[in-house]
Amino acid sequence: MGDLMKGKRGLVMGVANDRSIAWGIAKALADQGAELAFSYQGEAFGKRVEPLAQSLGSDFLMDVDVLNDESLDAAFAQIESRWGGLDFLVHAVAFSDKNELTGRFINTTRDNFKNSLTISCYSLIDLARRAQPLMTNGGSIITLTYAGSNRVTPFYNVMGVAKAALESSVRYLANDLGPDGIRVNAISPGPMKTLAGAAIGGARKTYRHTEANAPLRANATLEAIGGTAVWLCSDWGACTTGEIVLVDGGYHVLGMPQSDNL
Ligand code: NAD
Repeated sequence: MGDLMKGKRGLVMGVANDRSIAWGIAKALADQGAELAFSYQGEAFGKRVEPLAQSLGSDFLMDVDVLNDESLDAAFAQIESRWGGLDFLVHAVAFSDKNELTGRFINTTRDNFKNSLTISCYSLIDLARRAQPLMTNGGSIITLTYAGSNRVTPFYNVMGVAKAALESSVRYLANDLGPDGIRVNAISPGPMKTLAGAAIGGARKTYRHTEANAPLRANATLEAIGGTAVWLCSDWGACTTGEIVLVDGGYHVLGMPQSDNL
């Protein structure tokens, strides 16, 4: 326990279960004294998120689908009436049709392209616009991305394009919101064993490959991603915005696998 986040209140979006990256982030922020609200997508996830939120002392839960404007309007109205402001927002939301996260990128359909980019990228822009008026003392917005945005990764396909758009959005939002003291950054972990991660073809092989070859010979942990989020959401991150922070055991510096694995 520390108090880096004491007095700060934030919304965490994207906890599906206790393996979710958003859950690792929520725990780390709460450990540093943050007060949290959670959003979940639909009743089934709500039942899983409720006890997790309670374990961090939060009873502030909202059902939000980022495709549904009414649910977004209601959530931000609730934050305004209950808290009157917001210090940080964690966006850990992504989706693509599982059937297109295997096989060839060239077969991406228009419908799934639109849906993947709307949920995984446009939602950040939408949420930032809604959060801005509540962040009257400045604030921090973080999202989650993956290195498949700028390097081809097996079966990441249209999610790579969605993450490239998301990373670019981080830079444009950082510039728009900078004058208001609002920072916008992305954390880019290596592969993690989550529901969303498992939807990508060959996920287990990718996980083992990065573990065997990353300079640290390890994948990221929820604790390390959480710690990075604390840095970015706390005053210690005061001068960092528009950044994509890699938390991947150093995998991104490699030009080739380790010699034993060639
Ligand atoms: P997860 O399945 O635990 O979380 C994904 C979340 O997105 C779920 O809570 C789901 O309910 C939510 N979501 C999807 N569509 C939504 C919608 N329409 N409205 C509201 N919420 C919606 O998986 P995760 O791996 O923790 O994913 C969190 C973020 O981390 C994603 O942006 C993902 O792309 C990113 N990421 C994951 C990995 C990995 O290997 N798992 C690596 C790098 C980045």
